[in-house]
Order: sequence, then structure tokens, then C-alpha cells
Amino acid sequence: MAKIKGVISKKMPKGQWAEADHESGCIYIDPKCKGIKDLEMVNHEGLHILCPWLSEDAVRIIASELTRTQWGRGYRRIDADDTTDLQDVEHDLTDADYILEPPSE
Ligand SMILES: [Zn+2]
Repeated sequence: MAKIKGVISKKMPKGQWAEADHESGCIYIDPKCKGIKDLEMVNHEGLHILCPWLSEDAVRIIASELTRTQWGRGYRRIDADDTTDLQDVEHDLTDADYILEPPSE
């Protein structure tokens, strides 16, 4: 399964907030990107890495909806508590590649 290896601050060309590097698995986000737009870009570029078959519009729609839900729940870049396992670890799904495969035609 593709992995998101990191989020790196990098100055982007004018008019661009972020980009995904599929080879390295890294997300690059312009340091001027703040608040809800930063969260949206992490979701957006992460979707490009995890689900490269999705169209740009599909990524925009899914990332926007995830961002609104997370933002509505109050998620911001302040809480640093990462002591609880996420669901992929909790349910031992780390090797379940098939879950994120594109639908077969
Ligand atoms: Zn995109």
C-alpha cells in the first residue's frame, strides 16, 4: 500500500498551495498555507498519494468533505497527543493492500 511519508514545508510557485511526490510519498505545503487550508491540503495531497486513480475533482470533493468534518470537530495544529493507536494499527490492517485498490472494471 502507498504510504504518506511526511509533510514538508516548501515554497510553492505562485497560485499553488501544495503538491504530492508519488515517488517519495511526501507532501509539500507552502509555509503561507495556514489553518483550514493547510488541513485541506494535507487531506488533498494525501489522497493523491493513497488513491492515485482518483480524478482531481474527486480528490477535491473528498478532501473538502473530510476537512469540513475534521474542522467542525475542532481539529487544529495544536494538540500533540499521539499516544492512541489509529484504526489501521488497532485492527492490524497494515498489510491489507486490497482495501485501497481501485474498483475493477
Ligand atoms: Zn490535486
